[in-house]
Amino acid sequence: MPVEWWTSSRLDRVEPGRADESWIAALWTRPDGHLLRVDAEGDLAVAPGGDALEFVRPEGRFDTQRHLLLGLVDGEPYFVESSDLDLPAMSLKVVGTRLDDTMRDIATTAVALHNWHAAAPYCGVCGGYSEVRAGGHSRRCTRCGRERFPRTDPAMIVAVTDRADRLLLARPSVWVPRRMSLIAGFVEAGECLEQAVAREVSEEVGLHVRDVRYLSSQSWPFPRSLMVGFHAVADDPGFAVDGVEVEAAGWFSRAELDAAVTTGEVSLPGSLSIAYRIITAWRENRL
Ligand SMILES: [Zn+2]
Repeated sequence: MPVEWWTSSRLDRVEPGRADESWIAALWTRPDGHLLRVDAEGDLAVAPGGDALEFVRPEGRFDTQRHLLLGLVDGEPYFVESSDLDLPAMSLKVVGTRLDDTMRDIATTAVALHNWHAAAPYCGVCGGYSEVRAGGHSRRCTRCGRERFPRTDPAMIVAVTDRADRLLLARPSVWVPRRMSLIAGFVEAGECLEQAVAREVSEEVGLHVRDVRYLSSQSWPFPRSLMVGFHAVADDPGFAVDGVEVEAAGWFSRAELDAAVTTGEVSLPGSLSIAYRIITAWRENRL
């Protein structure tokens, strides 16, 4: 059975309604509103035990520059603000594994908006200060008037298999020993995604791939990536690691990977990541 990659989030991003700031201000005063707080590191306020996000009721005067609208869930408004409060907070990478699709969507969007606003207060054209608009989904320069939208950097991640359907796993030099994953890298200026797949695989492990096929994608706001997942086939399995970006690599049959994970010889990426989902799909013969 093919993998169901699609998630079933109920978050309504209320576009284009969010262009109307008086409508957003009215949502702020609603008794069924929810406010999520994100600390300076981009960690999310969590409930005691860390198994759920911690929301509070929106209170006080609505501030277009601080209170960002995530959207509606079942008609109820959800906001996020960056907070200096000393909160019990947790990385999306951890709490995200404990949330349903809708709450994970809310958390991911909150972190993505937080990261963008933290990095983009000034206009990239004239250097002027920019104001938050549209409930946090754009900024407009107060000097030249240019409007900007949240940036996302495309990155690709690829499951390379050989003719025997073994999977290639690699360990980036910056990772802890034993942690292995798929080949991944950023898309360069002027490149399409398939070119980025072929280039990164060639650069990092010296393999030539064919049949590059799209699988799924995942917002990865650390700080602002969109991970685009692919499958590709290498006819010649003879690889050579570059020793710079990638320190080690290896082909694994399903039985070999099962054994390596069981003994602790290989540790796989966290379960929130698209890398984990793609590796799991291959292990279950459902790629
Ligand atoms: Zn400007």
